[in-house]
Amino acid sequence: MAKVAFIGLGNMGGPMALNLLKAGHQVTAFDLSAAALAQVQTEGAVVAASAAEAVLDAEFVISMLPAGKHVLGLYLGEQGIAGNISQSALVIDCSTIDADSARKVGAGLREQGIAFIDAPVSGGVGGAKAGTLTFIIGGTAADYERAKTVLANMGKNLFHAGDVGAGQVAKICNNMLLSILMAGTSEALQMGIANGLDPKVLSEIMLKSSGRNWTLELYNPCPGVIDTVPSSNHYQGGFMVDLMAKDLGLAMEAAEQSASKTPLGSLVRDLYVSHQQAGHGKLDFSSIFTSFKKSDAN
Ligand code: NAD
Repeated sequence: MAKVAFIGLGNMGGPMALNLLKAGHQVTAFDLSAAALAQVQTEGAVVAASAAEAVLDAEFVISMLPAGKHVLGLYLGEQGIAGNISQSALVIDCSTIDADSARKVGAGLREQGIAFIDAPVSGGVGGAKAGTLTFIIGGTAADYERAKTVLANMGKNLFHAGDVGAGQVAKICNNMLLSILMAGTSEALQMGIANGLDPKVLSEIMLKSSGRNWTLELYNPCPGVIDTVPSSNHYQGGFMVDLMAKDLGLAMEAAEQSASKTPLGSLVRDLYVSHQQAGHGKLDFSSIFTSFKKSDAN
């Protein structure tokens, strides 16, 4: 079993660390939030007083932080911990951040002789709890193989997307497509409803027709069509609009840097930012459905 330092025990990192503990790994944790640390301590993690202390002697250093600036600051900032990490350790950043920041962190650590992979996840808080996350990895083939020792205890599907940064690119391509499908499905369902159709019946029809897609089948945005998804629970739980808006911002940065044509991505980013600004940032991303509701004035 491995010695793992885990930094960032939030909604995702907390349950991921618990799965490592359950698998028998020795986990030393650090978070800026005392409450987050207390939770993993009760499950058997050793709590460190700082990130620098947490990584001492660790074979694997895993971070799960909000955004690129946090990851850059943690490893390479003024109080950065790059100098505290053992040269034989593998650093795995699971946060969703811009590919450029991931490459900067990878290069900065490499200068110190430390291996790094980016390993953003798909599967949300439910997947983190169940240990069924999908990890999308950027790094060398050897580091990808090495990372399996710990990633296999937190996830079900592991993909090697390419060099450092490639995991982040693949993740935002997926989330851009997901948001386009969610907005398109919402628009079609609302048009059906406005024209007198039952959304359950319309969903069944489209599921057996060419409009079938993941959001319609497994994450239907219309309340009452699928009982177990966030739309049927007042859009609570799931994947927040705030996070989708963040990922779409990252997607648009990547599109600009590569001169890619992403008109649908740009439109759906604007739709999600408007929805966020209307006060719905903490709702599940399927709540975009409500923004397509026919207005009463019509
Ligand atoms: P969160 O805000 O719940 O957790 C982040 C944690 O990082 C917090 O506990 C915070 O205190 C801690 N933190 C911030 N800066 C720190 C630092 N310098 N040192 C130590 N701890 C620090 O966020 P989350 O929902 O767990 O998401 C984490 C990452 O995972 C994000 O990049 C997000 O985009 C990505 N992600 C989230 C989901 C989801 O459904 N929540 C799904 C896929 C990917």
